Formats: sequence, structure tokens, C-alpha cells
Amino acid sequence: MRDATDSVEFVSQLRELLGPDSLRTGPDDLAPLLADHRQLFRGRAAALALPDSTAEVSRLLAFCNTHRISVVPQGGNTGYCGGATPDESGTALLLSLRRMRRIRAVNADDFALVADAGCTLAEVQVAAEGADRYFPLSLGSEGSCQIGGNLATNAGGTAVLRYGMMRDLTLGIEAVLADGSVISQLAPLRKDNTGYDLRQLLIGSEGTLGIITAACLKLFPAVRARATAWISVASADQALSLLALLRERSADRLVTCELVPQAALNLVLQHIPAARDPGTAAAPWYLLVELASSGEDDMDGLLQAALAQALERDLVLDAALARNGAQREDFWRLRESVPAAQRVAGASLKHDISVPVARIPEFIRRGSALVEQHVPEGFLVAYGHIGDGNLHFNVNQRPGADSAAFLAREAPLKRAVHDLVASMGGSFSAEHGIGQLKVAELERYAQPAELAAMRAIKHALDPNGILNPGKVLRSTPP
Ligand SMILES: Cc1cc2nc3c(=O)[nH]c(=O)nc-3n(C[C@H](O)[C@H](O)[C@H](O)COP(=O)(O)OP(=O)(O)OC[C@H]3O[C@@H](n4cnc5c(N)ncnc54)[C@H](O)[C@@H]3O)c2cc1C
Repeated sequence: MRDATDSVEFVSQLRELLGPDSLRTGPDDLAPLLADHRQLFRGRAAALALPDSTAEVSRLLAFCNTHRISVVPQGGNTGYCGGATPDESGTALLLSLRRMRRIRAVNADDFALVADAGCTLAEVQVAAEGADRYFPLSLGSEGSCQIGGNLATNAGGTAVLRYGMMRDLTLGIEAVLADGSVISQLAPLRKDNTGYDLRQLLIGSEGTLGIITAACLKLFPAVRARATAWISVASADQALSLLALLRERSADRLVTCELVPQAALNLVLQHIPAARDPGTAAAPWYLLVELASSGEDDMDGLLQAALAQALERDLVLDAALARNGAQREDFWRLRESVPAAQRVAGASLKHDISVPVARIPEFIRRGSALVEQHVPEGFLVAYGHIGDGNLHFNVNQRPGADSAAFLAREAPLKRAVHDLVASMGGSFSAEHGIGQLKVAELERYAQPAELAAMRAIKHALDPNGILNPGKVLRSTPP
């Protein structure tokens, strides 16, 4: 859409097309949706569409495509890359599926569930539990992020080691393409080799190739036994060896292996009132590990035996097993509160990187040297999903350091860290996607053939460029 006069006209036409409940223009409706979760981006929008069915999304997109109106889908707005924030032109239509939050079907025998894309992740987890099943995607944002957003970002979380990312957890998808046509593949098929996999193309596409309206998700047997431990280790090398030993000894029951440095634990204990000291010996690094089983197995016994072996091999300094659910929650709170504690502590520079799992210690060594060299005003807080080779390689401002000087280090540090990642065969965006934050990084690090293929796909599916323009790929004038 071209300008503000057009937007008044299109809003009234859309209201006629969709009905008053499905279109809002009031500042109270729009204002909370115009900035991203991290407050890095702020935009404007002409209106907010709240369709309540796939048919309505289809009518909406057909209209927008005809009139060249940009559509920016937004789920729970918990994404880290500004992917759900419109630009500043004020001409885009924000699209939320929050009225589409029906669990359409739960089929325990198929180990599958079909949910509207506007369901929150927590609602899907509860629906699975209701059928004595388990949906393993788990994120700190699960109370507010939506299944549509999880699919569009290919979310990861804390159980990827055992169950994979959203890509691995999705059997089928329903989506509306830019011209309003609907792809509906919601059958709970484990095997279907019929042509290009459009489901996988749409997963991770961040709203740029279609609007995801529903999905058929994979369920697993309910978890009946768990063991959780907080472990002190002397080095990242030891953490890596311990990870391997736990995988070998646990018959693939290791679900979570999260790395937390002393610096992060200090921040959490200092800034998060509910956080409790885990009580293990102080160490440079800690691991939060969790084993889970759908049988009645003795998970505590299994974990204890593996840790005893690790002690014999000098891989562990100290460990505490959660004695009950409350202590398990305490351990998890320490890990999940790291981003909040970082925020309270001051400004931070963030990198969401991955390298092959076996190269994590080398990456930490080389990356730490870069931080020391580039950011004298900061200190490293590198934590995250070591079991997936994914670190949130963050740097926090030292107390009392000059904020402007600290923030001025962002660009050179980012270049150095991402160059290091690339040289080690890794990724500059492991789980948070591209959004608008990392468009230039994608242009820099993707192979020319990859970029050309991405652009060709975008053009084929959205020739007028109405779907989330400027996200993932730079928008080109139609
Ligand atoms: C405390 C916290 C912890 C987090 N932990 C993790 C973690 O461990 N792992 C992880 O991967 N992420 C994590 N995240 C990031 C975030 O929660 C995920 O990226 C999540 O999947 C985003 O879902 P959302 O509904 O909030 O999407 P939004 O932020 O609203 O949107 C994200 C992208 O998806 C697009 N989109 C949204 N809905 C649709 C749809 N229906 N169809 C097409 N496109 C759509 C948007 O346009 C945007 O590009 C965390 C965030 C927070 C705040």
C-alpha cells in the first residue's frame, strides 16, 4: 500500500469484508503490539486484523494481495529478532491469530494433536497431558508464545537434545499463501514422500512465505520418571565429556543439558529474588541436566550411577540431585532466569550461535579472547544449550562502566564473533531466526546460491512482496 489516504480506504473495506470484531484500529489495541519484546524495534500499523478462521485469513490475504497491502503476522511477540514488528510507514496490517486458539483434535493412538496456530505453547502442552501424552517443546516464553510463532521461527528450547526442534515435532501444517490459497496437510502421517515438502518450507519462514493457521504436532508417551541434577564442573571440556558420558550411560534418556557459567549464576542470585543457591561447590561452570522416561524406571539411580562414574574420571567437581519437584523448579529457575537477570544487571550484547557440539570448548576459548580484546567494559555470560551446540554468547556491561562506550563495541564484537562462528562451520543464528535484526548477517554469511534460491522461493510464493516485507530478506520494490 502506498500512503495514509489509501490506508483509511482499505481499513473501511476490510471492515466490511471481515466484520467489526475482526478489525481494530484503536490506539489501545495497536500500541502494545508495535514494539518487539526486546524493545529493539518500533513500528506503526494501519490496523490490527483478528480473524477467527482459516477462511477469514484466506479472504484477508486475497484482498491484501490484490491491493498490495503488507501483512505482518504476530504471535505472542516473544521473538528476539524483531520479526513481528511492522516498519515505520504505518501502512501495514498487523495480523494476530489470537482468536484462533482451538485444539481441533487430540489423537492418542496417532500420538498427534491438531491445534490452531493461535494456541499458546502452554495450551498445547496441557492438551497433550490431558490425553496422557507429552508435547516436548519447552521455552521460557511458553505461556505467551503461540504455535504459529513457534513454527514460523522453528523454535528450539530445552529438550532439543532428545526431541529436536519444532521442525522435528511437526507432522503437518495448514497455511494460507499470499494470494489467499490454502494448503492443508493436517493428517497425522509419519511417512509422506509426495513431492516438495511445503511443511518444512513454511517452518522457519518467519511469516514471509505464508500465514500458518494450524498444525498437526507429534506427541510422545507421557513422562513418568525424571531425574534432575545441578553439577559443578571445572571447564567446558569437562562439561563436554560429561555430556557424552551421560548420553552413553542413559540409554538416550538425556533430555536436557544446559551450560551455566559462574558469571550467570552470580547475576541470577543477585537479581532474581526467588533464586536459591544450588548448594554445590563453586565452579567456573555448571550443568543443569535432566533425564526422563515414560517407564517407571529409576531415573535417580541411573543419574547417580553415571555421576559416580564421572567423579571417578574427574569430570565432575560436585553435584546435587533434585530431591523433589520444588528443588527441581529451583534448579530450573536458575537457568531460565539468566536472561531476566542479565536485563536487570544492565546493557548486554547478544549472540545466538551454534557450532558442532564437539567444538564448543574451543569456541568458548577463542570467543572469550575476542571479548577480552574488544570489550574491556564488559564480561562474558555464555550460557545455553550445550547439548545442541548452541550458546547464547552474551556480554554484560561491567557495573559502573560507561554505557555509551560499552554499546559502541557491539558492531566490531559481532563481526569478530560471527566470523569466528563461520570459520568453525557454525551458525550466527541458532534458534532465534533472522527477523529484521539479522538480514545483513544473512546476506554476509549465506552462500550466494542459497540466497538466490531463497529469493526465488520468496518471489514465487509472494510475487507482490506483501508477506512480512523486510524480514529474512531485504524487501525489493515490486
Ligand atoms: C523468556 C524467553 C525465553 C525464550 N526461550 C527460547 C528458547 O529457548 N528457544 C527458542 O527457540 N526461542 C526462545 N524464545 C524466543 C521466542 O519465544 C520464540 O522465537 C517463539 O517461537 C516466538 O513465538 P511468538 O508466538 O512469540 O512469535 P512472534 O514473536 O510473535 O513472531 C515471531 C515470527 O513468527 C512470525 N509469525 C508469528 N505467527 C505466525 C503465523 N501464524 N504464521 C506465520 N508467521 C508467524 C512473525 O511474523 C515473526 O516473524 C524465548 C523468548 C523469551 C521471551
